[in-house]
Amino acid sequence: MVDFICDYYSRIQSLPVVPHNKNGYIKSVLPSEAPEEPKSFESMMEDMEGKVLPGVTHWQSPTFFAWYPANSSFPAMLADMAAGALNMIGFSHQASPVGTEMEEVMLDWLAKACGLPTRFHVGAPGPGGGVIQGTSSEAVLVALLAARARTMRGRPPEDALRLVAYASDQTHFCYDKACRIGAVRHVRHVATTLDADWALRADDLAHAMRRDVEDGLIPFFVVATVGTTATCAVDPIAAVVEVATMHSAYVHVDAAYAGSAALAPELRHLFAGLEGVDSYSFNPHKWMLTNFDCCAMWVADRGPLLEALSISSYLVPDSGSIDYKDWQIPLGRRFRALKLYFVLNMYGTRALASYVRHHVALAAEFASRVAADSRLELAAPQCLGLVVFRVRGADDARNRALLNAINASGRVFISSTMLGGRLALRLAVGGSNTQLRDVDVAWEVLQHTLEDIAGAAAP
Ligand code: PLP
Repeated sequence: MVDFICDYYSRIQSLPVVPHNKNGYIKSVLPSEAPEEPKSFESMMEDMEGKVLPGVTHWQSPTFFAWYPANSSFPAMLADMAAGALNMIGFSHQASPVGTEMEEVMLDWLAKACGLPTRFHVGAPGPGGGVIQGTSSEAVLVALLAARARTMRGRPPEDALRLVAYASDQTHFCYDKACRIGAVRHVRHVATTLDADWALRADDLAHAMRRDVEDGLIPFFVVATVGTTATCAVDPIAAVVEVATMHSAYVHVDAAYAGSAALAPELRHLFAGLEGVDSYSFNPHKWMLTNFDCCAMWVADRGPLLEALSISSYLVPDSGSIDYKDWQIPLGRRFRALKLYFVLNMYGTRALASYVRHHVALAAEFASRVAADSRLELAAPQCLGLVVFRVRGADDARNRALLNAINASGRVFISSTMLGGRLALRLAVGGSNTQLRDVDVAWEVLQHTLEDIAGAAAP
């Protein structure tokens, strides 16, 4: 298997980034029932080649520029193999002490490497701490549940019907999902505009909250984003905290993609104000060379989280130890801290910061080419590794044709978004092995496709 993995990475550039097979192809080559008799490992490896790879979208290709990156690295892969071998279900300290204790230490290492506020450190005096969730969606959901528990303290149960949550209209849909799961009836999406670079305006938030209070509602939860999905917009955390605090509302900051940027001290200004928030999360599995899944989450006070999620049961806690089952939705949990241990040790924080800078510089290079091409325009300012652009003066149909033709080339894969009701194309630089030559490939494919489309449109 290790040979297969090494071989895969050595030939990944020769594979089309997106598979060309028709929908249903993979199902058609799989038998309809499990075999009664065991198959050999060799025949399984043949299936990897003949049945699995033809259906893979190659997220690890250096010319994969769609959505946001999902980094992999050999240190993280090897750690995951070891974690798979140990296969411990570390829901409590007793269930596997190293699972809990290494996670506490890794979250502190990561918090320090990113310059996060001391109140988040597990090792600092105070009620803060960190936990690894599977995904940012889970982090937003548990933050919402903690906010609800905190706000409902001492209130009659019917007050739950008056709770209101807030986020900008650029917030990831995991906010809406969390509100639905948490049975929040009043869910606000504060409008954003290009003038404010698609970021939440604190005045608009304040206005929405005031109006709700006048209507007898209870603001309880705000999600601010550093690095929105569509354009990597950055909500002003300090100003959001100031507004939310007036209503004792809980603030969670979701930096799913952008959080890794804090490894580079000169990019930490994007995170100014974090010292005032109740919780914060980002995905090392996006842009920190840590294979999926790994969402680092910190809380300033673990009390509300435990109030929301701790159920006393047959599992008697060891006194004084963290039982991470009380910080998450499921009981069982994987040994994800081991991936962080390998990645942080085998790269070191200095190289990880350089890694982030490298992608930001590549994105800046692509953005400058877009800005210099009179046929194109930036649809949002380039932020970190993301460039959002479109054909100047063209309608959505033309931009969609461009997107489809670029992706049909098989050489690169990019995605799109709707911004202010108009289609825009997204090129997210951040692949584990992406270099300038790969950005050059994206530029070359874009140029050819623009010419082809112009040629096709000509009379
Ligand atoms: N939040 C933001 C800002 C995102 O960009 C994404 C996904 O790209 C998510 C949340 C959801 O991430 P996850 O898959 O970890 O739930």
